[in-house]
Amino acid sequence: MKFKIVSKGDDRSEKIKATMRNYLTEFDLEYCREEPDLVISVGGDGTFLEAFHRYNHRLEKTAFIGVHTGHLGFYADWVPEELEKLIIEIAKTPYQVVEYPLLEVIIRPQSGGNEDRFLALNEATIKTPDGSVVFDVDIKGEHFETFRGDGLCISTPSGSTAYNKALGGGIIHPTLEAIQLTEMASINNRVFRTIGSPLILPKHHTCLLKPIVDRSFLITIDHFTKNYANVKSIQCRVAKEKIRFARFRPFPFWNRVRDSFVSDNDHSK
Ligand code: NAP
Repeated sequence: MKFKIVSKGDDRSEKIKATMRNYLTEFDLEYCREEPDLVISVGGDGTFLEAFHRYNHRLEKTAFIGVHTGHLGFYADWVPEELEKLIIEIAKTPYQVVEYPLLEVIIRPQSGGNEDRFLALNEATIKTPDGSVVFDVDIKGEHFETFRGDGLCISTPSGSTAYNKALGGGIIHPTLEAIQLTEMASINNRVFRTIGSPLILPKHHTCLLKPIVDRSFLITIDHFTKNYANVKSIQCRVAKEKIRFARFRPFPFWNRVRDSFVSDNDHSK
């Protein structure tokens, strides 16, 4: 089996990376940058997002696992104290795979040209550097509302505990293939009226955002931001691709939610 380790780059993460690389190579696993079967992220959820985007062109062939060197993460859920156990489990392959849904975002330009397609593990947000965004929101081909406000966040179930949660969105279990739309400070008056509540769309229900007036946006996909001018539409839906996690022990999603947001005890230890 081929593996790759993506580290946050701090001393602690680099040390763990070196230890894992040495042991796994001794177990006859091959370190491979280009075509790894398993990508091990060492750091936090931010590092995991980076690892995902580096290898999201081969999701069918690559599984991911995260070791956290900061506080408990949603994606990075192994602690450094469990390293020996984890190395032995990885060396014993094959492993169980758990899949989570992803968000597909397609950005189309006004004047023809190529569209951009992205996959997000957490979310996409659409904002503007100045003023408010104004766009028509179509759901499943029908006009739903005209949104005016700071922006919109469209998140995956596993991203529902990230930015979405800060915006008052609900937490969605990742076995549900859905995306969630949450508003950022919508303006509501007699001209502009939005639903005001987070919306949860099932698979195959496409959400299309069509800019009115200004067509320049700041679009974030997980941890990176891009400036877009001249946007015709932004299409969001559940992606056909999924992320595959290598699972060596159960750590239920609700336990991770509890340990991150409710309980003082880190039950993963
Ligand atoms: P960052 O601003 O350095 O960190 C954002 C925080 O979000 C970190 O504590 C990160 O955990 C945590 N996080 C990431 N994914 C998560 C998830 N699925 N569930 C719960 N917490 C999660 O940015 P970054 O490290 O580059 O990560 C980008 C992400 O930051 C975006 O995808 C967005 O979700 C999130 N974000 C959140 C807010 C907010 O809550 N107000 C605002 C902007 C962006 P680690 O410390 O383990 O990396």
